[in-house]
Amino acid sequence: MGSLQLKSIRKAFGSHEVLKGIDLDVKDGEFVIFVGPSGCGKSTLLRTIAGLEDATSGSVQIDGVEVGHVAPAKRGIAMVFQSYALYPHLSVRDNMGLGLKQAGVPKTEIEEKVAKAAGMLSLDPYLARRPAELSGGQRQRVAIGRAIVREPKLFLFDEPLSNLDAALRVNTRLEIARLHRSLKATMIYVTHDQVEAMTLADKIVVLNAGRIEQVGSPMELYNRPANLFVAGFIGSPQ
Ligand code: ADP
Ligand code: MG
Repeated sequence: MGSLQLKSIRKAFGSHEVLKGIDLDVKDGEFVIFVGPSGCGKSTLLRTIAGLEDATSGSVQIDGVEVGHVAPAKRGIAMVFQSYALYPHLSVRDNMGLGLKQAGVPKTEIEEKVAKAAGMLSLDPYLARRPAELSGGQRQRVAIGRAIVREPKLFLFDEPLSNLDAALRVNTRLEIARLHRSLKATMIYVTHDQVEAMTLADKIVVLNAGRIEQVGSPMELYNRPANLFVAGFIGSPQ
């Protein structure tokens, strides 16, 4: 389970309205990509879904339940950021298990879940290392592993690959696609990389200045862009 419904989401910082009425349905298990220019509100929208920001108005429902007053940790969501935000003094194993430890999960269960996630991400040989002893791609896999161990129904990724070089980006992208297939979780993923959007998405949401320009499958957007803005973003000739 991990469906999401956004209804008329508005968000203002002071007098600056960043989200101007967002309506969106995400089905359980879908891979949804948000694209749009820098500053259009993608991160703010993810943070609002995660509960790290409160919407000024509108409603966020997860599996049909209004979560406006549910704390971020209780929403069944895990978020992966562009900066990995790992604890430098903790091993990979402890970085991955920390959230579970804080939630009071028994030690043996944490070990099991960390081992399973490490296996999925080919991180087994690195469990005893500190983040400084890892490459950028390995660190980002640890950050993804830290999300997986919590077994969220909804993953939110905010430009997770943008700090990686081109080759690692491709590998990590394939890894995320594999994870989506094996975990069958719902994933919402922000990127401004057209290749990532076209290859990963079941559904692409094109945002512009706090509004949705169009929602559709990669092929729908490519073949039938609603306007020049979408055509420009998806890269079809029009
Ligand atoms: P994107 O992720 O699409 O680049 P953001 O959601 O980060 O865009 O930002 C959208 C707009 O909201 C920007 O103009 C940004 O400056 C503004 N903004 C984001 N967070 C805050 C904040 N905490 N306080 C004030 N303005 C913010
Ligand atoms: Mg952003």
